[in-house]
Amino acid sequence: MNKNSSNTMALAPTTSNKRETVCIFGTGDFGRALGHKMIQSGYPVVYGSRSTQISNLIPKDAEVLSHAEAAQKAAIIIIAIQRQHYNFLTPLAEVLHGKVLVDISNNLKLNQYPESNAEYLAQLLPGSKVVKAFNTVSAWALQSGTLDASRQVFVCGDDVEAKQMVMDIVRALGLTPLDKGSLLAAQEIENYPLQLFPMWKFPFFLSLGLTAFFFVYCVVLDIVYTYIYENNDFSFFIAITIPNRVCPVMALILLALVYLPGIFAAIIQLYRGTKYRRFPDWLDRWMLCRKQLGLIALAFASLHVVFTLVSPLRAFVRWRTNRGIISQALNNQTEPLDHTNAWLSDSYLALGILGYFLFVLLGITSLPSVSNNVNWREFRFVQSKLGYLALILCTAHTMVYGGTWFLSPSAYKWYLPNIYILSLIIPCAVLVVKFVLVFPCVDKPLTRIRQGWERNPKYSE
Ligand code: NAP
Repeated sequence: MNKNSSNTMALAPTTSNKRETVCIFGTGDFGRALGHKMIQSGYPVVYGSRSTQISNLIPKDAEVLSHAEAAQKAAIIIIAIQRQHYNFLTPLAEVLHGKVLVDISNNLKLNQYPESNAEYLAQLLPGSKVVKAFNTVSAWALQSGTLDASRQVFVCGDDVEAKQMVMDIVRALGLTPLDKGSLLAAQEIENYPLQLFPMWKFPFFLSLGLTAFFFVYCVVLDIVYTYIYENNDFSFFIAITIPNRVCPVMALILLALVYLPGIFAAIIQLYRGTKYRRFPDWLDRWMLCRKQLGLIALAFASLHVVFTLVSPLRAFVRWRTNRGIISQALNNQTEPLDHTNAWLSDSYLALGILGYFLFVLLGITSLPSVSNNVNWREFRFVQSKLGYLALILCTAHTMVYGGTWFLSPSAYKWYLPNIYILSLIIPCAVLVVKFVLVFPCVDKPLTRIRQGWERNPKYSE
């Protein structure tokens, strides 16, 4: 089939609901994927290419013409070409005059050029209306239809009408346009696909640092100390025992760190007597990555569960159990059941199970697919009320696990407290301050401040 001629009629809209022809410059991966999607959505597509040769890869029903010919057929032209080739557009300035040019390009590095690609295009072709869009959608997602994760299309441009036309196309493709304002926003939009888990950096490095610290701490107290003073080689503790000590400690501390910034925010608002002053930057950034901190905490808690479940399979644990049984047999004496100990062990396990259940619930409700389906009050109920309940249960789990051990000198090797004691400091501090904050004499003014009341209105200026 000759694509150059067969669709000429289709390109001329005859009815009002017929979609307008869209021109795409470039028959590369993205140009083809977008063209395919547009044809599916009812848009006649014409390609502008260096070669008008027909290829099997080009969507059926699309025309392929020279750039100048193709541009004349449409009011909107999508530039599916890398920025470094934009120079070839300059001789086409006349034919592109007044047309809407959609810049979809990305760079290889953050802030690679002094100006965004879209602004560069606008400088090259001042007579055209440049709109930035589609750069955060991948050709693969367009082609495979797996657009769930990237349904949002950021759009920006200086010409409101042109931007509206592009947003209409975005909607027609089943995507959600998000107006980011003028073309000045293009640099930020172009940087989005290049960012590497921006919200995860602080939680990741914090977790890494704390894990390394607690791991070394345990190695020193559980392996080095035992080797020096008891001449026992427990170096194999590195594989399971120590990770199973570090994981719950990390889970508990990180969960407490999810709620600590909220406590700081409340104290700052109470102190200032207004909510209309910005929090310090560090607190803003901390608040923004609470979800990530919570998810890492959940990962540590899950590892703790798995490490605990494999415990009975461990040679060391079986050896210790057998030694207890044999010593009772040799002494011909059965140790009576210690009811206090039985209560403590069942209680700390039950608290751990309940705490972990709530932990998982928090993790599930933080997933966009779930959080999008609950209203604000439900979300806050789960993340705040149930979150604090999870923190209380996990803190109680650790306290009951430790029991009165913190009173025993064996909990302080080299005068250093056992790791479980360290893990309780931040959660206990958070819970105590939160307890104070819910007292009516503190809660009432805080609620009023959060509703807009100001103790001293000069702060709102
Ligand atoms: P590509 O497969 O390399 O295609 C680029 C097309 O540009 C070529 O097929 C060619 O089309 C045209 N071209 C190449 N050199 C040219 C030159 N010197 N002069 C004029 N035209 C030239 O690249 P792509 O993956 O489709 O990406 C195209 C643009 O979309 C890039 O700016 C990229 O950043 C952006 N983008 C891509 C994706 C993706 O998933 N691939 C996602 C978002 C944004 P003709 O042979 O037809 O002339």
